[in-house]
Amino acid sequence: MCECCGTKKDIYLPQLATVNKVRMMNGTELYVHLSMDDGELGYKPGQFVEVSITGMGEAPISISSSPTQKGGFELVVRKIGNVTNAIHKLKTGDKIGIRGPFGNGCYPVEQAKGKDLVFICGGIGLVPQRSFINYVLDNREKTAGMAMSVSLPL
Ligand SMILES: Cc1cc2nc3c(=O)[nH]c(=O)nc-3n(C[C@H](O)[C@H](O)[C@H](O)COP(=O)(O)OP(=O)(O)OC[C@H]3O[C@@H](n4cnc5c(N)ncnc54)[C@H](O)[C@@H]3O)c2cc1C
Repeated sequence: MCECCGTKKDIYLPQLATVNKVRMMNGTELYVHLSMDDGELGYKPGQFVEVSITGMGEAPISISSSPTQKGGFELVVRKIGNVTNAIHKLKTGDKIGIRGPFGNGCYPVEQAKGKDLVFICGGIGLVPQRSFINYVLDNREKTAGMAMSVSLPL
């Protein structure tokens, strides 16, 4: 509980999270399942977190899981620089810092109700889109139908 404003937590301060599972998806992308040490993160499809690694810094990473999934959340991280290389060295049971969630959650969750949906995305852009896709799959009674197109880099 934040003492100054009374809200549940201060999203601007890093909170501890535990790594539950890591798995390489391909040569450069790592799947990470995490849970906040103080309970559920609480987020909307399309939001991101700031991931901090002690001594390395922090990087914004989109949340890839749907908020309908409880007991933790998922990230997919492309190995590119200092922080993401450090994330790729994480093992089950390691602790990292998480700030957020941030962003407006850009997906039109309310407008999608009762509509046929088409998803188009490419490359690492699939990471935040997967959150909304899984949200829709978990709420199929609210959406009419769904088609998906994923464009891959050449
Ligand atoms: C809202 C948001 C969501 C994101 N979601 C994801 C996600 O889900 N998954 C994901 O993998 N990424 C995501 N990213 C991208 C990720 O945050 C960046 O790749 C981040 O910079 C990685 O941090 P780093 O410390 O590993 O790399 P950095 O050290 O920041 O390096 C990034 C790149 O810049 C180059 N570089 C660094 N310093 C210099 C320099 N001085 N001169 C020239 N080049 C330099 C590096 O070589 C590297 O190619 C997201 C970014 C944003 C803004």
